[in-house]
Amino acid sequence: MASEPQKFKLAGIMGMPVLQSRSPAIYNHWIREHGVLGAYGHLPVRIEQVETALRGLAALGMVGCNITLPHKLEALKIIDSVHPMARQIGAVNCIVVQEDGSLHGMNTDWVGYLGSIKEVQPGWRADQGPIAVLGSGGAARAILYALVSEGAREIRLVNRTRAKADELAADFPGIVQVHDWSQRHDVLAGCAMLINTTNQGMYGQPPLDLQLAALPKEALVSDLIYIPLETPLLAAARERGNPTVNGLGMLLHQAVPAFEAYFGIRPQITDALRRAVLATFAT
Ligand code: NAP
Repeated sequence: MASEPQKFKLAGIMGMPVLQSRSPAIYNHWIREHGVLGAYGHLPVRIEQVETALRGLAALGMVGCNITLPHKLEALKIIDSVHPMARQIGAVNCIVVQEDGSLHGMNTDWVGYLGSIKEVQPGWRADQGPIAVLGSGGAARAILYALVSEGAREIRLVNRTRAKADELAADFPGIVQVHDWSQRHDVLAGCAMLINTTNQGMYGQPPLDLQLAALPKEALVSDLIYIPLETPLLAAARERGNPTVNGLGMLLHQAVPAFEAYFGIRPQITDALRRAVLATFAT
């Protein structure tokens, strides 16, 4: 049977819960902007159905999908090939259906994070001084790989559950030092950068319990959270004069290589895109 002359390219974001994801607003903006014959939607899939759903992508003629936690770790066990950086990080957030129907996994979170920082501070370097990182979940893994790949020399890692920080730090001997959660206020002394990768300060969560007094006023303060756009941590940092970066930039920048992998076009992060995504926060 003859194949379709012009293939409709379908992709989406798989997870549970997933309807809160702003990814469809990003990808569909670019799809319209570039006149791509395709669409990007929410794919609510229970964790026990991830394998069945991923194996169905090729049969459905889909070009791929993004994955949210906890599906990111599950997907790594299922796919057929993995980019070396995603293998090192231990999670994939982007799965691309290959010509032969096999599934290739990538991680674009780490490069998205670096893109968001360099957009705000083009001269930023990871070796400008110690970096304090709070949290040791899935996002922290990608952030540590990003910082180390950029030449970070001293990372002070603090997590409520110390054992998880110890496990993560073991991948970076000599660069990542773990401190107890009770020391989180003091480890900020002399830091060039502070990164919150915990969920504290996110919509529905209490603010991050952190005193900034020891943090130098010129230190860059970054929060991965983007709901709300300005967390209590970022507001407190801004009020004392620290430069700040919220999590929206990471969300936008990690989508660029994923869109290119699905649709063959490298999109731009424009003011129009930001307006389209910010409009979803008003609803
Ligand atoms: P995760 O794997 O569930 O990790 C959650 C982290 O938060 C853990 O370190 C956890 O510590 C800590 N935490 C939870 N409750 C806490 C509390 N009461 N006090 C102190 N620490 C607490 O989640 P994740 O995937 O790493 O995501 C973390 C955050 O990053 C989320 O807000 C997510 O929205 C954001 N994120 C943003 C982007 C983006 O594109 N902007 C991408 C990925 C993630 P324990 O180990 O002790 O439980």
